[in-house]
Amino acid sequence: NRRLTLASRPVGAPTAANFALQENAMPAPGRGQLLLRTVFLSLDPYMRGRMSDARSYAEPVAIGDTMVGGTVSRVHVSKHPDYQAGDWVLSYSGWQDYALSNGEGLIKLDPAQVPPSYALGVLGMPGFTAYMGLLDIGKPQPGETIVVAAATGPVGATVAQIGKLKGCHVVAVAGGTEKCRYALETLGVDACLDHKADDFAEQLAKTCPDGIDVYFENVGGKVLDAVLPLLNTGARIPVCGLVSQYNATALPDGPDRLGQLMGNILVKRLTVKGFIIFDDYAHRYDEFARDMSQWLGDGNIHYREQLVDELENAPQAFIGLLQGQNFGKLVVRVGDD
Ligand code: NDP
Repeated sequence: NRRLTLASRPVGAPTAANFALQENAMPAPGRGQLLLRTVFLSLDPYMRGRMSDARSYAEPVAIGDTMVGGTVSRVHVSKHPDYQAGDWVLSYSGWQDYALSNGEGLIKLDPAQVPPSYALGVLGMPGFTAYMGLLDIGKPQPGETIVVAAATGPVGATVAQIGKLKGCHVVAVAGGTEKCRYALETLGVDACLDHKADDFAEQLAKTCPDGIDVYFENVGGKVLDAVLPLLNTGARIPVCGLVSQYNATALPDGPDRLGQLMGNILVKRLTVKGFIIFDDYAHRYDEFARDMSQWLGDGNIHYREQLVDELENAPQAFIGLLQGQNFGKLVVRVGDD
């Protein structure tokens, strides 16, 4: 049984040296327990926060502990009355080949309905995040303009497509021409801009002639800077993530723009609301699952995964995720299904 542990806390961007691959004996399930084989491991930006001991909404991973993470696993051995060997489950087994469980928190998956790995993306935590953040905080109205960055990732792509389903003008922001082409051709957004372009802010202003009504905040940094002057009175900002800052070790250079931000919030009566998906919305999961299953079934929502083979490649793939090297929902195929 192999597992990846946190060897040291990163300063700035994580490196391979922050992780250690360890081999230990296969755990043996006792009465009422299950041995789970990890098939798919989800890699997500929030894991950067768990590597750090800065105060946050969740406890950090301790040095030497297995890195945490959502998995799609299969029951390898069952000594639990509700499960049989071969069952597919959504688990939180972390970065390892096998894990013990007492069944608590597991969700059974039906592979005949949708590919099981979707439970880590569009039909799971990231899809739920997009759904609640956009609909409950963003409250998009037909004809309004939505801006969303990281637009080809599992959260952003879902936000963009729900925005179109709600009759909005959707302006996507992504890193590079290939991602933008995908956003336009497959996700069906009205425009897609590359945030790496020197004149990104001017392009955004030209692309949003009627201003911006909903800015779904995934990234912060330069994208937020460009969005701020374009916000309309009464605009909503669901603050979902700030991935451009996760590796930062200090505040950025330049003038302090906090006063400008607060001035905008006041004068334009902005709604700026952070949320942590399961802490705030667990009670509305069924609503999401029903709508999303319907949209996927009808072909209204497209979903792209990037599969990386082998557990030992997880650190490198994760390091790349924080730099935009993934294209779609990043998933490690740890074991054979
Ligand atoms: P993605 O798969 O979209 O990966 C992150 C993407 O962020 C990268 O691919 C890259 O896309 C973009 N990015 C990275 N660095 C920068 C930068 N400096 N400037 C602009 N863009 C950058 O991730 P997810 O869809 O899983 O997550 C999206 C956001 O949602 C994250 O901030 C995450 O933390 C947050 N989140 C929040 C939750 C909550 O409960 N609040 C729950 C789940 C996710 P590109 O190359 O296109 O720029």
